[in-house]
Amino acid sequence: MSAETTVRQDLGFDPDALRNKYQTERDKRLRDDGNEQYIEVKGQFSHYVEDPYLEGEIKREPLTDEVGVVIIGGGFGGLLAGVRLRQQGVKSIRMIEKGGEFGGTWYWNRYPGAACDIESYVYLPLLEETGYMPPKKYIDGADILAYSQQIAKQWDLYDDVCFQTEVESLHWDENTNRWIIKTNQGDAMRARFVISSNGPLNRPKLPGIQGIDDYQGHTFHTSRWDYDYTGGDANGGLTGLKGKRVGIIGTGATAVQCVPHLAEGADELYVFQRTPSSIDERNDRPTDPEWVDSLQPNWHQERMDNFNTLVSGGVTDKDLVNDGWTEIIRNLLLMIRDEGESDLSFEALQEKMELADFQKMESIRARVDNIVNDPETAEHLKPYYRQFCKRPCFHDDYLPTFNRDNVHLIDTGGQGVDRITNKGVVANGQEYELDCIVFASGFEVGTEYARRCGYETFGRNGVSLSEHWQDGARTFHGMHSHGFPNSFLMGTLQTAFTANYPHSLNEQSKHIAYIVSQALEGNHQVVEATADAEEEWVNTIVQLARMNEQFLADCTPGYYNNEGKPSERSRQNSSYGGGPVHFFQMLEEWREDGTMQGLDIS
Ligand code: NDP
Repeated sequence: MSAETTVRQDLGFDPDALRNKYQTERDKRLRDDGNEQYIEVKGQFSHYVEDPYLEGEIKREPLTDEVGVVIIGGGFGGLLAGVRLRQQGVKSIRMIEKGGEFGGTWYWNRYPGAACDIESYVYLPLLEETGYMPPKKYIDGADILAYSQQIAKQWDLYDDVCFQTEVESLHWDENTNRWIIKTNQGDAMRARFVISSNGPLNRPKLPGIQGIDDYQGHTFHTSRWDYDYTGGDANGGLTGLKGKRVGIIGTGATAVQCVPHLAEGADELYVFQRTPSSIDERNDRPTDPEWVDSLQPNWHQERMDNFNTLVSGGVTDKDLVNDGWTEIIRNLLLMIRDEGESDLSFEALQEKMELADFQKMESIRARVDNIVNDPETAEHLKPYYRQFCKRPCFHDDYLPTFNRDNVHLIDTGGQGVDRITNKGVVANGQEYELDCIVFASGFEVGTEYARRCGYETFGRNGVSLSEHWQDGARTFHGMHSHGFPNSFLMGTLQTAFTANYPHSLNEQSKHIAYIVSQALEGNHQVVEATADAEEEWVNTIVQLARMNEQFLADCTPGYYNNEGKPSERSRQNSSYGGGPVHFFQMLEEWREDGTMQGLDIS
């Protein structure tokens, strides 16, 4: 901060100076190519998505039979859809999963240190139904993977599962009112209903850095960790990196978790940073048995709802989770209470919210100074944007790692690395020779749906979903698309976005299971969104996106704001701007109404 800033005594910082600093940092990072800056992982790059965890290839005959419901995706979305359908009495369910097991994102992301940094008592679904209690507040990735499999076992979802199977296309057959599902295993199976839960972050992406294919050393993406090369496992112990110079590109939530392990294993670690993450304390702790004994029925839903309200900017009189995620709202409430103001206008509330956010981020920046010894390194590690512009991170070992002699932060001033050579990485004009480059560069978010899920869906009259969506996504409630009967989508497009993604999947799965079971009970052949309902929903999405745009427009670029390039298309492809609390309530009321408004059922 410059010396000319006027620090407000009550706050301890100058809001105008911070606002300007945020804007300068954001402007530095804006680029014309937006999402185009990343490389699609295919062709010569397809080895980056090969499954390193398979213990042998599954051999089976191609399937051409018919089932009631095909669920694509074996992560929490697919699992929850399966569970909710089972609870509605649906027997004929076939799960299709690209990986070799259930687990979704937790199947793929097994990098050292992988763990959930949302409280496990709200992150994990179905805790009351399974009776499972996570051993600690923030559960390890390996335990989440095991829990996914526990869910699949409890609800018999292994009974008809196709692992190592990638869907290649979905075709609606008008004559039989069935979907034909073709896969890379030669299947041409049929299903009455199809539910697609492909995961919003399932397609790894690589930075489009000049020379990326010239590099002669070893490389991999964090979501396909190469333990054969690094040694060790998800707990660390990367002994294979002894004697090695390792570079990691990216400093998002994944890098934050694996960097401390890379630093321990490698001789030298170079962390190439474009934008620092906000790193709050994690303060993990074992689950308190007394607290567990005190829990009353329905505690889980109440806790999830409470967290969801607070992280989506709502106000409640209690904060059950009470950690770094919900602190901004706690700050806000304190501020309002201290100032004795109870009846604030929307604008006044937004102003207070900004101050509470500044306050929170000031404490995040002060934390960097307290932990990192070298002042210059500390300065580079400070994030200057609002906390929810990027995924906030919670870690107690990441920042101290930069006090190690073998760890070098290569800050690129918001520009990213310059290029890759056959020997290593060039950043700020200097070449760093490396034995291995780890890409912690994230996943495709803003690209076309069919590209991200890996298959095309052909609905009525052979029209593809990509054609139907050529100007942006078109859905009713984010789950149905007109012309694509008996097909359900799960995800974030035109549904609610919440920091606790499994919560959203849980609500979507209840909704879809209700509709499917109603159709089955009434022996209806076809359930389809009407063109009018779809049109109205698309308009609602776009309108709300416009109203909410300012917050994201002011944010530093990233996948939350279409890399800083809002467009008519990105507005249409956004989540429901009325917020998750309202969205979930709306779905519930829609079901209670019982008339299936917006759907044609025949
Ligand atoms: P992110 O997309 O969050 O991070 C990608 C990183 O790569 C960013 O730091 C980005 O910088 C950087 N990058 C991209 N291109 C370049 C370049 N050319 N030069 C230098 N750096 C570059 O991916 P992650 O895998 O870290 O996280 C993805 C998501 O996964 C998270 O947001 C979160 O939702 C989820 N996750 C959840 C966890 C949990 O606990 N539940 C744990 C881990 C991940 P820049 O920021 O400037 O774009």
